[in-house]
Amino acid sequence: MNKQNFEQQFTSISDQIWEFAETRYQEFRSSALQADFLEKEGFTVTRNLGGIATAFSASFGSGHPVIGLLGEFDALPRMNQTADVPEKQADRPSAAGHGCGHNLLGTGTMEAACLIRDWLLQTHSEGTIIYFGCPAEEGGAGKAFLTRSGCFDGLDFALAWHPGSKTGLIKEALANVRVIFDFTGKSAHAAAHPELGRSALDACELMNVGVNYLREHVKSDARMHYAYLNDGGDAPNIVPASATLLYALRAPESAYVAELYERVGDVAKGAALMTGTKVSYRTVSAYADLLSVPAMEKLMMEAMQKAEKPEYTEADYAYAAQFAADENSSSIDTNILPADQTINLGSTDVGDVSWQIPTGLIGVATEATGCALHTWQIVAQGKSPLAHKGMHYAARILFAAAKKLYESPELCEQIQENYRAVKGKRNYHSMLPDSVKPGDF
Ligand SMILES: [Zn+2]
Repeated sequence: MNKQNFEQQFTSISDQIWEFAETRYQEFRSSALQADFLEKEGFTVTRNLGGIATAFSASFGSGHPVIGLLGEFDALPRMNQTADVPEKQADRPSAAGHGCGHNLLGTGTMEAACLIRDWLLQTHSEGTIIYFGCPAEEGGAGKAFLTRSGCFDGLDFALAWHPGSKTGLIKEALANVRVIFDFTGKSAHAAAHPELGRSALDACELMNVGVNYLREHVKSDARMHYAYLNDGGDAPNIVPASATLLYALRAPESAYVAELYERVGDVAKGAALMTGTKVSYRTVSAYADLLSVPAMEKLMMEAMQKAEKPEYTEADYAYAAQFAADENSSSIDTNILPADQTINLGSTDVGDVSWQIPTGLIGVATEATGCALHTWQIVAQGKSPLAHKGMHYAARILFAAAKKLYESPELCEQIQENYRAVKGKRNYHSMLPDSVKPGDF
């Protein structure tokens, strides 16, 4: 099969997943599309990985090194946007959309797995490649649950990429815990019998005010943000008896996130006390910080430089210019970020994997310059030639990095040694309570 036809298969899969736009733990069609394809391509597929219906692995080859490729395919709620339209325009406003480019993420990673399979076959090399179809990166911490189930045991290395507007290393990510706060009050006629009512909505508002004051007294790199999971009532003349908040608490280290969890919990209890309501709260997902391994980063940097770069046409630049945030710079960022800089992703559940085995993570430009993730602009560009070209480039980079590992036992040992050194005595500690199940929102 020639290069164009080979790549076209993945372009088509990515576009289909963009259309499916399935959110966390509901990625049934996206997951099946990828698993079925890889099975036909000669991979040994294990479905229902770690007891999660939309998780799977697809393995090819034998012996060491065993390299895991981490794919994703989940979309974001209410992010629907018409493709290629450079202004906010949703065909189905309440539908989900690929605002983080995970249609490209998982599919480009699969493409890398197929490139590696071809190379293993051609060269009769020893080594195993395993593609992981990981669900629910967005809010559901799929890989943290897969880690807990031991799904990444037996790997020697893991490689992953993330779409965005820049190409470069991702060297850090924040630890993150997601907590649901349920407030329960008492309903009453808000005008006739206000004294009988206890407003759960008031409690949420006071909690948020309290947390916003708390910001002044936490470390400057901590992040605390929230969303209302329900509407906090139906009408102003009915005192809202229930209201729910979802919080994300983040910091560079898990230990500090645990401290934030305690302090924010106290604020919630205070809000309940002030309003005469009750609060209960529970962790629904948790992400570890990312362990940076300089020897792995060196490998990834070389792979980015070595892999064949995308060729952009005038039409690509003109297309990107409609979305680019900065009119003064090129509409497509074709540079590779210097090795001492990092692309900022916020948090990622790749962090949990990075505490099990040396993990290489990079960002690859698939969007116009300056476009931020989790926006309609990303959804709009998700099926464009710009996105496809970036995705194929990402596949070539992951392939180049894996090939180097298969070819060089010395390099493998060097990275393992560096990994042991940076990890030192620090142990992985997941903030997921044992009782929490994937998707238990
Ligand atoms: Zn993402």
